[in-house]
Amino acid sequence: MDYKEIVKTYEALEETTKRLELTSILVDLFENVKCDEIKRVVYLTQGKLGPDYLGLEVGIGEKLIIKAIGESMGIADKKVQEEYRKLGDLGSVAEALTEKRAQRTLFSQPLTLKRVFENLFRMAKKSGSGAQRERLNLLEDLLNDCSRSEAKYLIRTVTGKARLGIADMTILDALAIAFADGDRARVERAYNLCSDLGEIAEMLCKNGKKGIVDIKIEVGIPIRSMLAERLSSPEEILEKMGGRCAAEYKYDGLRIQAHIEDNHVKLFSRRLEDITSQFPDVKEGLLKSFKGKEGVVEGECVVVNLNTGEMRPFQQISHRRGRKYELTEAIEEYPVTLFLFDCLYDGEDLTGISYQERREKLGGIIEECDKIKISTVKVVDDVEELEKFFEDAIEAGCEGLIAKSLESSYKAGARGWQWIKYKREYRAELVDTVDLAIVGAFAGRGRRKGWYGALLMACYNDETDVFESVCKLGTGFTDEVLKEIPKKLGDFKRDAKDPRVESEMEPDYWFSPSVVLEVLGGEITLSPIHRAGYGVLKKDSGLAIRFPRFTGRWREDKKPEDATTSKELIEMYSAQLKRIEE
Ligand code: ATP
Repeated sequence: MDYKEIVKTYEALEETTKRLELTSILVDLFENVKCDEIKRVVYLTQGKLGPDYLGLEVGIGEKLIIKAIGESMGIADKKVQEEYRKLGDLGSVAEALTEKRAQRTLFSQPLTLKRVFENLFRMAKKSGSGAQRERLNLLEDLLNDCSRSEAKYLIRTVTGKARLGIADMTILDALAIAFADGDRARVERAYNLCSDLGEIAEMLCKNGKKGIVDIKIEVGIPIRSMLAERLSSPEEILEKMGGRCAAEYKYDGLRIQAHIEDNHVKLFSRRLEDITSQFPDVKEGLLKSFKGKEGVVEGECVVVNLNTGEMRPFQQISHRRGRKYELTEAIEEYPVTLFLFDCLYDGEDLTGISYQERREKLGGIIEECDKIKISTVKVVDDVEELEKFFEDAIEAGCEGLIAKSLESSYKAGARGWQWIKYKREYRAELVDTVDLAIVGAFAGRGRRKGWYGALLMACYNDETDVFESVCKLGTGFTDEVLKEIPKKLGDFKRDAKDPRVESEMEPDYWFSPSVVLEVLGGEITLSPIHRAGYGVLKKDSGLAIRFPRFTGRWREDKKPEDATTSKELIEMYSAQLKRIEE
């Protein structure tokens, strides 16, 4: 197939935005492509070189593209840049300059789809020193033989701006019409299990509908994720679920689908990219925890504070997605736990069985360890119980709950009412610092072994003259501070809780309230565990400070009775309640 055929289709696709017309243009294209070429056609139409999980990127920056255009057209880079400034799109630049280019050489060959695809593929595969020059040569080789419109689309593909705006779902529609008697559901099911539209197109082209009946889950090939709808009250959720459902903590991190086989682990993101290399610690944890022979499990990966056991803010997970050379440091500074919530495969496809059965399977093949845990879940059939569990989740550092239908199968790639997210709608951000008294301490772990790893902090209730627990503080301690804490607290150590302290939490060591620290918190939340302002805003709830950090200021000028009061915290909570923006 000539590249110009495909370019003609791209031009036609660009002429319309109507989904039906787009589909019919694609049907026409697919029906006229040979089966051994359809894969390439589908990938290029998606603006890719393969399925996402292979991570194939042409890997050439703007500067080099400008150079390639310049060299192949015999024009100085500066001129190309000027044109780029005018037109704002390198594809249009290549198109315009091709027109001005002198005659093509005697040796020029018409571009075939195969040649274009192979050159781009080779560009993606190049690595090491000299790779850039080789990529440049491969691109120039194509540009030398391009017509105007070919140059435009070639460059747009290379820059990742194919701009055709064809959704995968439109390609699925077209494939179903062209090869599967319009049986869209079956084609989509195949796609959800194998996430590779090119592969599916080839199977359909060769054997029609029959070609995809045998598509099965394969360890190593990501499955498209099941997604949740949203509701904002426990009443609505229980009604939708028929009065009873499983409620799971909704962890706030990064969704990971783990594929495990013998000693191999592959980790995929929600977008189905292979992210294994960024999480060697999770991989190691899974190898330890996984007791089956092969399997696919899914969970949410969250940064945790090893000393407080607290989950850290969602944004911190991004530090684990940085460059390779910073990885060792990032692993130490941002340790993670993967909370598994589903099991899709254990040698058998489990996506068709019920949620309850899948959870049982998950429990059977996973033995929890430090890095790998199973998500907290409770079966509920009562509004109050659901609301209470929601608060427990917030207290634990989660974003809310995901309610799951007990009977539902795993609907890969689908958003439906079988899973419903219930998130907080309001957040009380803490903009000011607070001063809190130390009332307890927890033994350190990891690097803090032998020291106090975290402190139990309390505010002061000036009406009842008691100190009410409000958070576990484990962040913001330098090595010097860690050494200083035991010295400062030594005289105040007690064998049991001071009678003026109110705390549900049991630290390893108790202190009489005496030393005051300045603490910066992320936000104030309702809490079933902490005792600050207990029962004032809500029955059976106190207030907690989430994501607390020691600012480094010892408030030696303050007596413990000068610490921030519970009343002040209640005021701060009410004044700063903000609707969470989507
Ligand atoms: P969506 O994934 O629904 O498109 P989103 O990416 O904006 O939405 P959220 O609205 O925060 O994410 O909610 C869904 C996500 O919650 C899931 O994709 C998953 O990453 C995460 N999650 C955390 N805990 C769980 C759990 N126990 N069960 C299922 N998903 C969970």
